[in-house]
Amino acid sequence: AGCSVCFRRHVCSSPSRLQSCMSAWVIDQYGTNEVLRFTEEVTVPIVSSASEVMIKVHAASLNPLDISMRGGYGAKLLKLRRAPVSVMDNNSEFPLILGRDVSGVVVECGSKVTHFAPGDEVWAAVPPWKQGSLAEFVTLTEFEVSHKPKSLSHIEAASIPYVANTALSALVNAGGLCRDSSSNKRVLITGGSGGVGTFAVQLLKAWGAHVTVTCSNNAEGLVRGLGADEVVDYTVGDPAEQLEEMEKFDVILDNVGGDTERWAMGLLKPWSGAKYITLVTPLLLNTDSMGLLDGTFHTGFTLQMKAMQNIMSRGVFYRWGFYTPDGPALDEVKNLVDTGKILPVVEAQFPFTQVPQAFQKLEQGHARGKTVVRVA
Ligand code: NDP
Repeated sequence: AGCSVCFRRHVCSSPSRLQSCMSAWVIDQYGTNEVLRFTEEVTVPIVSSASEVMIKVHAASLNPLDISMRGGYGAKLLKLRRAPVSVMDNNSEFPLILGRDVSGVVVECGSKVTHFAPGDEVWAAVPPWKQGSLAEFVTLTEFEVSHKPKSLSHIEAASIPYVANTALSALVNAGGLCRDSSSNKRVLITGGSGGVGTFAVQLLKAWGAHVTVTCSNNAEGLVRGLGADEVVDYTVGDPAEQLEEMEKFDVILDNVGGDTERWAMGLLKPWSGAKYITLVTPLLLNTDSMGLLDGTFHTGFTLQMKAMQNIMSRGVFYRWGFYTPDGPALDEVKNLVDTGKILPVVEAQFPFTQVPQAFQKLEQGHARGKTVVRVA
């Protein structure tokens, strides 16, 4: 007999597992690519609450966060989020499944799920505190899930949710932009050639903003093709000098971090509500190195100091952007995709057997869009 959930015939070490096992790439400890392990004996993540849906994964994609989490990044805070009451115990997060994006088909719904039914094609970004999408099945609440754009294959769809939820959260919640308020705004996106950047350029152009991008010379064609109005090659000369020649910006979305914030603040329109939002924040690094309490306190203090300095000296807002799970936000993205305003940017795709190679590709850097894994 085969598994009653995935209907595959395979050998499990215990007969009772036939009812509840699936294939997945897991890690049993933090480390380099060698810790990735393929197994057919992971417990299927069942629907355990009335608002959950179980999704058969057709495609997943990788993000820089997967590389970082494989190495233990954010382990302390994510463990607290997974199991708040048992964080002081030795409860293990392993085997841990990575992979944040999913495109697939709903196979089961909790009793209070209203927006989805078995058979629906869906997409979602799996929060990092939940088991990921490098597996045959993933279970999420219906509020984290959205109907997949009809015009995209599963491979194409899997390239969008995590970067879309991140860009939307950063630009809307931290940046104060939206569809109706962006048409007269000048926006600078640093690192425009990667996953978040290639999505954010298209979203902002769909909203009518004027978009300037920094990227390498060989990515100029890509970002111009996605709609970027002006492109600055950061590999020749100082990008800050080139950007200072331009009209000042209303919003900067920083995908690069590091030194960038030192010169970027001066590119914003002073005393006019302009905002700098960086996605490269120290929160998880600080909680990893200093512990939960000290790390959170230190991080909060740093953010407040930087925000105060910038508002008082220049009249510009300094903010951090974060991924936020949001199914309804993906509904809006679906409409933009199905009307041709946002295109998927899939740079590379790998079969499920080659997940370690997909990680290697991502780890080499220089992304030009997304790396996707075909799961089914
Ligand atoms: P990617 O790796 O997909 O893209 C990064 C891009 O930046 C690459 O195209 C790279 O190409 C380019 N780049 C590197 N250095 C520079 C530079 N100095 N100037 C301009 N471009 C540069 O990353 P993502 O787009 O997925 O994510 C961007 C950042 O945001 C990452 O650091 C990620 O960890 C973070 N992030 C944070 C989230 C949060 O919740 N806070 C959520 C999602 C992402 P090349 O090197 O060839 O120039």
